[in-house]
Amino acid sequence: MSEYRALPSVDQLLTALPDLIDRHGRQPVTDAARLRLDAARQAIREGARGAAEAARLPHLLAADLAAAAVTQLRPILNLTGTVLHTNLGRAILAEEAIAAASAAMAAPLALEFDLTTGGRGQRDDHLRGLLCDLTGAEDATILNNNAAAVLIALNTFGQGREAIVSRGELIEIGGAFRMPDIMSRAGTRLVEVGTTNRTHPRDYRDAISDQTGLILKVHTSNYRIEGFTAEVPAPDLAQIARDAGVVLMNDLGAGSLVDLSHWGLRREPTVAGAVAEGADLVTFSGDKLLGGPQAGFIVGRRDLIAQINRNPLKRALRLDKIRIAALEATLRLYRDPDRLAERLPVLRMLSRPKDEIAQQAARLAPLVRDLLAPHGFDAQVADCASQIGSGALPTDTIPSAGLRLTGAGGDAPDRLAARLRSLPRPIIGHIHAGALMLDLRCLASDDQLLTALADL
Ligand SMILES: *Cc1c(COP(=O)(O)O)cnc(C)c1O
Repeated sequence: MSEYRALPSVDQLLTALPDLIDRHGRQPVTDAARLRLDAARQAIREGARGAAEAARLPHLLAADLAAAAVTQLRPILNLTGTVLHTNLGRAILAEEAIAAASAAMAAPLALEFDLTTGGRGQRDDHLRGLLCDLTGAEDATILNNNAAAVLIALNTFGQGREAIVSRGELIEIGGAFRMPDIMSRAGTRLVEVGTTNRTHPRDYRDAISDQTGLILKVHTSNYRIEGFTAEVPAPDLAQIARDAGVVLMNDLGAGSLVDLSHWGLRREPTVAGAVAEGADLVTFSGDKLLGGPQAGFIVGRRDLIAQINRNPLKRALRLDKIRIAALEATLRLYRDPDRLAERLPVLRMLSRPKDEIAQQAARLAPLVRDLLAPHGFDAQVADCASQIGSGALPTDTIPSAGLRLTGAGGDAPDRLAARLRSLPRPIIGHIHAGALMLDLRCLASDDQLLTALADL
């Protein structure tokens, strides 16, 4: 019994630790103290000495509270080589978008209010004009993400009816976004046509009936079917849909607003291209190649967009003011294509020449080696291959360079990866061929890496 008496009460502990209360607040310190005192009593039951347990308490409590104060959502360095990494939050935003989002958070704004007339406005109006200008479409509507855009379009035009899709395009995008599942939730019956590798115009024509609500074309963004293949070109599919009087929707996924070949990248289908090819509706994401916050867009025929906007789901899937402000600022950057790569981080990273990245790697290698040597690791300059990510151009890689980190023992890459993940600013690389590879394509400055590693 006397061993327990060596432990302080919660109140005594709190009185002795005013600094912790200052830093973390009374309630969190009280809660943590209760847990630690419980653990100390348990230890005493199992034979520990009360005085020793009491002596450890302040230190353990401080460590508990410090650990609880660290957020998982702290900034990290994405050196995976995947520029649009879904698990790391996809696009990082342009300065202009960040400023607009901050302003929208800090003060009221005319979100659904017309500053000219003083009457009611529409939250989508801030983006519609820009989207129509940039895509050549008649109208646009904005949703929470592209999955929501696909869902609401299917529900609007396919509920209780059929949607025709090629078997070559029945995709899963990860995170359980499977086209057939989305269809059934939208109340749409899926009609598969063609085969995995070949679908012909007659396959679509034969499947059309008075039950058909829409034809869906899906950009097979995260895989590629090669070899003996045939798909119906979009303009031909548009003609088939027009002849039958059904809606043609083209889900582009990443959907770029500009031709990436201007920046030396492979051409990814553009939204304007899909509109010009005759799709009635085109859906795409805000945080993939577009380089903005999470959002989904549907652009296309005015009468169809109006129908979508009348769907009650629109309210459930709409965007908040912060992202609308960030998107508006992002889309404005596209009006000045000459400076787009300077201002839009996604494009800046994607278009960074390999030589420049290799020079950065050569500059950093000796400094990183010095920081790692005391921990038993080494760093060498190495070539690598970046990816766009988020399903864009899946089989295409972009030549890049970085640092190849090695150490003794087969588990060295895993051990180092874990160390780098636990840093105040975590560094995420990828393990490749017995080493931890840091692709420097997305490293904004040498300092960022050196500062992060200095905490090792
Ligand atoms: C990524 C993608 C989606 C889903 O878009 P989110 O913005 O992630 O919801 C839908 N369709 C295709 C073809 C995609 O590539």
